[in-house]
This record gives sequence, structure tokens and C-alpha cells, in this order.
Amino acid sequence: MRAQGNPDWTEPFPPHHIVGNIYYVGSRGLASYLITTPKGHILINSSLESSVPLIRESVEKLGFRFSDVKILLISHAHWDHCAGSALLKQQTGAKYFVMDQDVAVVESGGKTDFQYGNSPDNYYKPAKVDRKLHDGDKVSLGGTVLVAHLTPGHTKGTTTWTVNVNDSGKTYHVVIVGSPNVNAGYKLVGNTQYPQIAQDYEHTFKVLRELPCDVFLGAHGAYYGMEAKFASMKTVGGNPFIDPDGYKNYVADREQAFRTELKKQGGEPTEK
Ligand SMILES: [Zn+2]
Repeated sequence: MRAQGNPDWTEPFPPHHIVGNIYYVGSRGLASYLITTPKGHILINSSLESSVPLIRESVEKLGFRFSDVKILLISHAHWDHCAGSALLKQQTGAKYFVMDQDVAVVESGGKTDFQYGNSPDNYYKPAKVDRKLHDGDKVSLGGTVLVAHLTPGHTKGTTTWTVNVNDSGKTYHVVIVGSPNVNAGYKLVGNTQYPQIAQDYEHTFKVLRELPCDVFLGAHGAYYGMEAKFASMKTVGGNPFIDPDGYKNYVADREQAFRTELKKQGGEPTEK
């Protein structure tokens, strides 16, 4: 996202259970997820460097140990989701697994990003990647298996995570959307830094349309209406995070926004 950031990115938010072994441990504006297992935990999104103590506090409030985080994953290599990775690795000893196409970006601290590589405001502390992921790769720990889906465009290695979890005897398909958004200033046509950007977005929407989804999550809580759903946990019965229609509507809305922008920039759709 943008270097200026948003005040709600650094505002603490109550950590909470989502479904199965998945918990929200992010701030009001930046989503981080803790996936707990008997063999240690997986954390998705280190967020800002200043988020790391907040994430730690949230993990501990839920009764888990920060030092039990064994694997760190991200939604994509933009500073609002990965600037804290070096610090988080240092504090927990977690191994850092990143999609191949985003590895150079996180290891250069943002300097090789196709859009923001020349904006020092968007730089962050580089973090070493311990495992390069590829589309369809599985990340397994203590009986939980996450699948990395390459959903590029927003960054070249944007990753949508899926995991099936059990909750009260039922299995739920969980989708953590990496980001389908076209940022302000993105060139979808004639982009010399990223020539296949439009085709990559097309691929992303095809993937997102086809993923089975019961529980809809994403890199920012705003994608899935986190605050309203969290508020309704106390008042409405059932689990508000189970929202297959919300997922379909979100993907359709973001695809429409992409197509509108592509048309505005004079591009032609390459597949449908
Ligand atoms: Zn981003």
C-alpha cells in the first residue's frame, strides 16, 4: 500500500478466535493470523516493525507463546505486511517462507519492488528467506496444511493461503486473500517493470473465483468486514466469519474494479 500508512494500521485490536485453530492477532487495519498446532504455530503477516510487539501481546493474550511461532508467512511483499519480518524472526526464531517471485523483494527490503522500488519511504529491514515457495506448495506443521496459491499482480508473488480446518465436527475451507487490488499509479498497460501484470491479474481472478471458500479472510480486515463481523460475534448466534457469499461478492467487486481500470488505461482483456 502507500508509505504514509493509515492511523488504524498501528491501533491495537482485540485478538480473537476465528475458526478451528485460526486466530486474529493483527491491528485494526493490518491483519495477522495465528494458526496454532501441537508442534508450534504459523504466523501470517509480520506487518510493520512496530506491529511486532502488538502481535506478541495478542498472541500472549490468547494464551499462546510467541516463541512457539515456528513458521512466518506473508500475504505479499509490501512493507505493511512484511516490514516486521526481520524483527519477528529474531524474536521467535521462526523460519520465513515466501513465494519465489516475492523473495528478492523481501530480501532487498523493498528495493526491487516493481512499483515502489525507487521510493525509499517504502523500504524496510531486509529479512532472509528460509524456504522459497511455488504455486501449490504445501506448508505443514503439527497436522495443519496450508496451500500457497500464486495470485500475482498486486506484487509478483502475492500469495493467497488456503487451509481446511475442523470446528465443532465440521470442516471449513478458509481462504486468506493476498490482495487483488490495483494500487493508485499501477500501470496495467506497457509496464516495462512488469510486462505481464494484466495477464497476472486475470490469472489471479480466475484462481480466486474457483477456490472453495467458507471462511473469508484477507491481508487487511477491511477486505472481509472484520470489524463488523467481530462486533456481531457478541450479538448474533453462529460464526460471522463463515461467509461464502461475502467472498464471492468481494472477488466479483475487485475483478470489476480491475476491468474498469484496465479499460481506462486502454488495455484489452486477455482471457475471461
Ligand atoms: Zn499491498
